[in-house]
Amino acid sequence: MSSLTQTRDYNFNAGPSALPIEVLTEVQDELLNYKDSGKSIIESSHRSKEYEEVHFETLNNLTTLLDCKDSHSLILMNGGARMQFALVPMNLVREGQIAEYIVTGTWAKGAYDEACKIPGIETNAVWSGVEDNFNRIPNPDEYSVNNKAAYLHYASNNTIFGTQFHTPPESGDIPLVADMSSDILCRPMDISNHSLIYAGAQKNLGPAGLSVVAIRNDHLESCPGNLTSAFDYKVLQAKDSLLYTPNCFAIYVVGLVTRKIIEMGGLEEIQKINNAKAKLIYDTIDNSGGYYKGTCTKESRSIMNVTINLQSEELEKKFVTESIGAGFSGLKGHRSVGGIRASTYNSVPLESVEALVSFMNEFQASNG
Ligand code: PMP
Repeated sequence: MSSLTQTRDYNFNAGPSALPIEVLTEVQDELLNYKDSGKSIIESSHRSKEYEEVHFETLNNLTTLLDCKDSHSLILMNGGARMQFALVPMNLVREGQIAEYIVTGTWAKGAYDEACKIPGIETNAVWSGVEDNFNRIPNPDEYSVNNKAAYLHYASNNTIFGTQFHTPPESGDIPLVADMSSDILCRPMDISNHSLIYAGAQKNLGPAGLSVVAIRNDHLESCPGNLTSAFDYKVLQAKDSLLYTPNCFAIYVVGLVTRKIIEMGGLEEIQKINNAKAKLIYDTIDNSGGYYKGTCTKESRSIMNVTINLQSEELEKKFVTESIGAGFSGLKGHRSVGGIRASTYNSVPLESVEALVSFMNEFQASNG
C-alpha cells in the first residue's frame, strides 16, 4: 500500500463519496498543466479544443455504458438531482396527462412533492411505503398505473432507507422515469423502456454540482421547447450541453471515472465487485445472531447503501465514534433515520469493505 492510500479513510460517505485513487492521482498529475496546454483544464475555455475533447469523451463514455446510443440522448446539466425533480414534469408532461410516482423513500417523495408544485400538472402517488418506514420495494400487484400517465417515476435506489429496485417497476405501456442518483452504472442497465433517467453525479460518477440526464429521442422530440432555455432538455441537447458554461471540472472527472469503468471491462465487472462488497456486509449482519439488524426486507436490500441498526442508539453512537478512530468515515446513518449506513458505491474498494466487516466483527466481540 502506498503512503497516500495509508493516509486516506475507508470512505463510506453517502455522497459526495469516494472516488477511485487512480482518478484522483491523474487529476493531481494533470492539474497544473493539462496535456501540455500550459494550464489546468479548469482554467481553459469551455470552447477550447482541450475541453471539447473532455466534454465529448464524457458524453460518449456515458452513452456507451448506458448502452443507449440509438435510443437516448445524453445531457450534462449544472445542478443536482433535486433540480431534475422539477425539470422532469416541466419537460415531459403534456396537457391531459398525469405524472405518476412510486414513493419508496425520502427522495422519491421529494420528486413527487416537487412535481406537485408545478402549476397545471396533475400528479398521483401510485404507492407509498411510508407506513412500513420505507423498508421495501412494492410488488407490481400493489399499484396500478393510469393510462393517462405521462410516465411512472421511481427512485431506483433509496439512499437513505437502503432499498433498491432489482428490476425496473412494471408500468405496462407507460414509460418509466428513474432517479438513478445513487445507483447509476452500478450494474448493466436496460433503459430502453425509460422515457428518461437522471442522476446527480456525486455518488457513482464524480464530484457534485452536475447531473446526468438520458432522454429517449422520441420523447425529446415532443418536449414543448418553450421553457426557460437553461431548463429545457431540447435546447440543452441541441447545444450538446454547452448552452451555458458547464461544470467543466465535474465533467472532466466523470470522464476519467467512466473511462476507468470501460477499461475495467464495463458494468458486468462493476456489478460483480458491487455484489461481492454488499454480500460481505449483509453476510456479517445475517451471521451476527441478531446483533446487527438490516433495516429492510431481504428482497429489497440495496447493493449501494447498506443500512443497519444495533440494539440501542447508544451502541450505534459508540460504533460510529470507534469507527472514526479506526480510520472509517461516513458510517453514520442519515440524520432523519439514525442507525448505521455503509455506502458501497462503485469507487469504494473491496479492501474498504473487508476492513469494515473486520471492524464489525471486532466491535461485536468487544461489545456483545
Ligand atoms: N435522489 C437521490 C436518490 C439521492 O440520493 C439524492 C441525494 N442524496 C438526491 C436525489 C438529491 O440530490 P442532489 O443533492 O444532487 O439534489
